[in-house]
Amino acid sequence: MELRTTIQAIRQARAALGTVGFVPTMGFLHEGHLSLVRQARAENDAVIVSIFVNPIQFGSAEDLSTYPRALERDVALLQQEGVACVFAPDVAELYPEGFVTQMSLGGVAAALEGTSRPGHFAGVAMVLTKLFNIIQPQRAYFGQKDAQQCAVVRRLVEDVNSPVEIITAPTWREADGLAGSSRNSRLTEEDRKRAPALYRALCHARDCVRAGEHRRTVLEAAMRSVLEAEGLTDIDYAMIVNPETFHTEGEIIPPHALALLAVRLGAVRLIDNMPLL
Ligand code: AMP
Repeated sequence: MELRTTIQAIRQARAALGTVGFVPTMGFLHEGHLSLVRQARAENDAVIVSIFVNPIQFGSAEDLSTYPRALERDVALLQQEGVACVFAPDVAELYPEGFVTQMSLGGVAAALEGTSRPGHFAGVAMVLTKLFNIIQPQRAYFGQKDAQQCAVVRRLVEDVNSPVEIITAPTWREADGLAGSSRNSRLTEEDRKRAPALYRALCHARDCVRAGEHRRTVLEAAMRSVLEAEGLTDIDYAMIVNPETFHTEGEIIPPHALALLAVRLGAVRLIDNMPLL
């Protein structure tokens, strides 16, 4: 496996590969990332993984400086997974002096994470546009855990006529239901015990829907109750949206509605979601 840090070097390495499945990450890899890698391996001649903590997708008050990093360990894990190349550029390689282009997104990018983290999806869209242009993969793999990001990326490739096929892979969870996240490593022991309440709240909403409850405000309140019972009161949002638009639509939830949570546990902000089928 090759570790490449410059655009020129990764382009050269990519040219020698056939169909490429690309897995963009911010590193500090866990089983969730590796599940995307395994799917990409099964569906392409070769896999390229990027490891880049993209500064422009973090707000000024967010956790860029404390975002966990472990490049050497990540590279060793990816080697074991049969990845062809890792692209781990530094910030100046992707955003050299003189870089001025910005993106602006509405629609699916406007609600939820778009409201809570202004500029976040613009930063995500910029780095992915660059990485898709540099690596030119056939397919790119994203986790359902970041459901709104998946919708934003699908919209992005459509809007800019990118030929990259976007694949959404299922959320990988710990045995207690907590969705795998690099940020889990920053939870205190006590908060780690509380964190599965996000999953339980989502399951509770799903069970209520299965039992015939379709009122959005009732279901959203039910999710909040599960979180609050566990002492999780710093709730950014607990919402049920139309998965096509990521906006709420009236009091009766649409078929295939999606429940989404963003909750702060100390300094750590966790997100999760579940289709209400
Ligand atoms: P990140 O490093 O957090 O930017 O994530 C890189 C990619 O891995 C994104 O497409 C995420 O949606 C995906 N991912 C993160 N956590 C999980 C998980 N628990 N299950 C599946 N995919 C995940």
